Amino acid sequence: MSAQELVLKKRTDILHALCCSGSAEHLERVLDVLLAQGELTWEDYQNVQVPGRPLYTNARQLLDLVYTKGVDTCGIFFAALKQVLPEVQGADFSSLGSCSNVEEKEETCRTSTQTLLTQRPSLIYKLQGCIDGAVKSLVQSGHFTSADFDEVRLPIYTPAQQARRLLDLVRSKGESAAAAVLQYIHQKQEVGSPLNEEKLTPPKEVLKYQKKLSSSVCAQSCFLSTYGGTSHMSLDDIYTEGQLELAHDCVDVQGPLGLEDIVGTVGTVNEEADTVLVSGEAGSGKSTLLQRLHLLWARGAALQYYLLLFPFSCRRLNSEQRELSVQELLFQHCCWPDREQEEIFQFILDHPHLILFTFDGLDELKQNFSDEQRLCCPTQRAPVHVLLFNLIQGSLLKGVRKVVTSRPEAVGPVLKKHLCKEVLLKGFSPNGIDCFMRKHHNDPTVAVKVLESLQANTALLGLCHSPVLCWIVSQCHKELLGCGEGSPQTITDVYLMILQHFFQRQSPSKSTMRLGWLQGHLETILHLGQLAFEGISATCYIFSGADLEKCDVTEEDICMGFLTQSKDMSSSHSKSYEFLHVTMQCFFAALYIVLSSHTDRYAIPKLFELQDLRDTGVSSMCFRSCLPSTDQKEQVADSEVAAAETPNLQITATFVSGLLSQRHQSLWVHYCSAGMVEKKARQVARCLSKGMQKHFKSIPQPVHGEKKSMHAMPGFVWLIKCIYEMQESRIAKEAMSKLQVDHLKLTYCNIGPVECTALTYVLQHLRNAVGIQLDNNSVGDVGVEQLLPCMHICKSLYLRNNNITDEGIRKLIAKVIQCDNFQKIALFNNKLTDACTQHFSHLLKTRQDFLSLRLGNNNITEEGAKQLAEGLKSNHSLKYLGLWGNKIGDVGAEALASALENSNSLLWLSLVGNGVGSEGAFAVANIIRNSTSLEELWLTENCITRAGVECLIEALEHNTHVKSVWLRNNDLSLEEVKEMAQRESRLIF
Ligand code: ADP
Repeated sequence: MSAQELVLKKRTDILHALCCSGSAEHLERVLDVLLAQGELTWEDYQNVQVPGRPLYTNARQLLDLVYTKGVDTCGIFFAALKQVLPEVQGADFSSLGSCSNVEEKEETCRTSTQTLLTQRPSLIYKLQGCIDGAVKSLVQSGHFTSADFDEVRLPIYTPAQQARRLLDLVRSKGESAAAAVLQYIHQKQEVGSPLNEEKLTPPKEVLKYQKKLSSSVCAQSCFLSTYGGTSHMSLDDIYTEGQLELAHDCVDVQGPLGLEDIVGTVGTVNEEADTVLVSGEAGSGKSTLLQRLHLLWARGAALQYYLLLFPFSCRRLNSEQRELSVQELLFQHCCWPDREQEEIFQFILDHPHLILFTFDGLDELKQNFSDEQRLCCPTQRAPVHVLLFNLIQGSLLKGVRKVVTSRPEAVGPVLKKHLCKEVLLKGFSPNGIDCFMRKHHNDPTVAVKVLESLQANTALLGLCHSPVLCWIVSQCHKELLGCGEGSPQTITDVYLMILQHFFQRQSPSKSTMRLGWLQGHLETILHLGQLAFEGISATCYIFSGADLEKCDVTEEDICMGFLTQSKDMSSSHSKSYEFLHVTMQCFFAALYIVLSSHTDRYAIPKLFELQDLRDTGVSSMCFRSCLPSTDQKEQVADSEVAAAETPNLQITATFVSGLLSQRHQSLWVHYCSAGMVEKKARQVARCLSKGMQKHFKSIPQPVHGEKKSMHAMPGFVWLIKCIYEMQESRIAKEAMSKLQVDHLKLTYCNIGPVECTALTYVLQHLRNAVGIQLDNNSVGDVGVEQLLPCMHICKSLYLRNNNITDEGIRKLIAKVIQCDNFQKIALFNNKLTDACTQHFSHLLKTRQDFLSLRLGNNNITEEGAKQLAEGLKSNHSLKYLGLWGNKIGDVGAEALASALENSNSLLWLSLVGNGVGSEGAFAVANIIRNSTSLEELWLTENCITRAGVECLIEALEHNTHVKSVWLRNNDLSLEEVKEMAQRESRLIF
């Protein structure tokens, strides 16, 4: 097919590739190349690049144009596309451009204006880091007016667009201006200063301001509050690395991400965006991570490329009622310059790439992110959330690096469009938990005891992956080590433990009676509970003195330590408070719902129905209507209901379930009527059952011949967690009795060890065995261990991409070997090595009804293959064996082939991408020759030569049941491929 025909045929793919990021950069870069190659005239360029017209329309215009220009232009167009979008996969148009040359035509240029054109792509690249200097030098040399200066430096342009603007203007000014700009770039290169990092000595006032800002940031970030305002812990002493992962697959990234990688360019998916998102569940350590970054920067220990760092907390920005300009936002909310405000702000405007902003807790902002209201002028005043959204999307202060943290629920597609990358914070690794405990306890024997008690209680160990829970467990080590059998199992147990711990710390005398620790503290619970409850309902996390007064919170209540004084960078605000952590606020809100007789009798049903009401936008109003005293003016408009609301209500509902479980009802008997507690508990059980029914009813009937499958809808895992908190097997059993599916799909559901514990608790009551698909979660070895008790109802387990190591497999296989239903496992893309293969081998030897083993994209070598072969030799049931993307080589292929050559069960074998050469192919040919069952053989992406394929062809002559042998991307010439494909149609090249 000619390039011209392909432009037509692949029109949709090309348009998508050029425009799907929402940024015009890809299209503009393709245009740069086409201009430089002389394929487009200026007139063409202006016809395509119409300002203000939708991106897709411009791209369509370009496609029409290159099509009409004929096959050569189309070829160069594909080459340009390949150069600009090398990573575009699946759209097989890239190969067409490979023969065309899009190198810049250096020697043939005669004039400077021509050079500007023919070297346009590289000039744009070079100019990006020194636009300011280039424009200034053009003004000085008289080629540019100040209006030209302003036009190029418009803040709505990206640096690349500014560079294009500059070149276009220079071109219109004639030869002398073109020569001047080329000379400027040349000089920059001559002096060896990297053009992207303009050498610069900041003005004195800026340096002074930097000093003030960093000492203020340092003071704000060097401690973590442990007991409200009363006790602090140095961040240096306690900070433990959390697990960071890129949300997108990225081939360049080897090993774990470090703190500085968050801000750096690694893993960038959208070059044009400046905002990095760090997302993680409540308590996963997002704020602490930012705090660490701030501290390291302020001390000069990291991120020194950035001259100024401005930290913001979205929950604090919520209380800013005024309209502000960016300048006011920076100076009033972070650090006030003693002098020369204008000069400092101008420096920020002129050097955006030297500035870093952090916004903690975007999910806690009262308004959801939107990019509808555009603001480009840095001096214009606007409501703070509008400023924030425009900063994030880069309409304001383009080029400033921004790091934003949020819970994942709050991150919608509109925000994603403006991100250069997303980093997931997944709490502590098992080593992290160990490290945290050892840091938290000066006495190593205490740390060891706590760690031992965690090893004995894997449910609790699972909870400790969440740093906030790890902190509580560690803080409550005395209670933990003293509770013997009744060691905490649920999140509610852990929060009750910290409640007890804080109360007993204040009045140790009451600690003697097992259940008496609540005594005398009911008032505190109700005061703080009401504050928390009203706050959750009104998206309020910072409380003024008046708020506290309204809920009768006393000085004594504050001293308990659950509230901490709000840190504020600006000194203008009066004293305000927040809960130690948002989950603590949810816990108190739940206590209030359980213990107060003032809440609406529908409070519980409304809390649990939230899932359904959310989209209608009435959820928050409904929920608020059960508050007797909500201040109407504080309410946000329905359409702007904050993103944090649903997750917070979900956490609160989880605690309500736990607090009303039978195990804890005795705690409340002295403080409220048993009848009321029982009634509320029945309400919760009914809500959970109803919620589950709704999920089950939404399962579509299977297509004829297919199995019935349920794909978890949002909220399903949450309901499961609530059932787990109740710890009543009757409720779990009842919930599962109505679920009749063959396959349960829970992919991309944020399932970690904690969720695995809850899932297992509920799923073990299923009546029929099911397939459990947990691909693309964070199950890990601890999660695998949590899943073991439900393996008897599991037919097939899919755990692709879940950070599982050989140790997890050891435990898993030891269990499933005894589970009669268990027949299939898929472990693509985990952290498996040869050490796990002995366990699979054992499984294969022992279980003559095992059907499918998929171990793709792990680290299995020839040694592992040999181990597997041992098991395969004596197995007569396996139908599918997948080893794609390992490293078994010829020796491994030979070992497997000799074990499988007489198989009469194996239908499908994949050795794709395993470094298998012709020796391996000779061996594999024996399976074709002798096996009576094999139908499909995958040998794509190996290094098999003609001799190997000849052997496969020869074997196929004697075999009629093999349907296809896949051989794409091996060591074969085009002629060989053509010839051999003609001889044997089952070979697929
Ligand atoms: P998030 O912002 O994700 O809700 P936080 O950063 O507020 O979570 O963490 C909650 C608590 O967990 C912190 O107050 C601290 O006690 C503990 N914590 C979180 N991350 C870390 C860490 N990296 N090292 C030590 N402790 C941590």
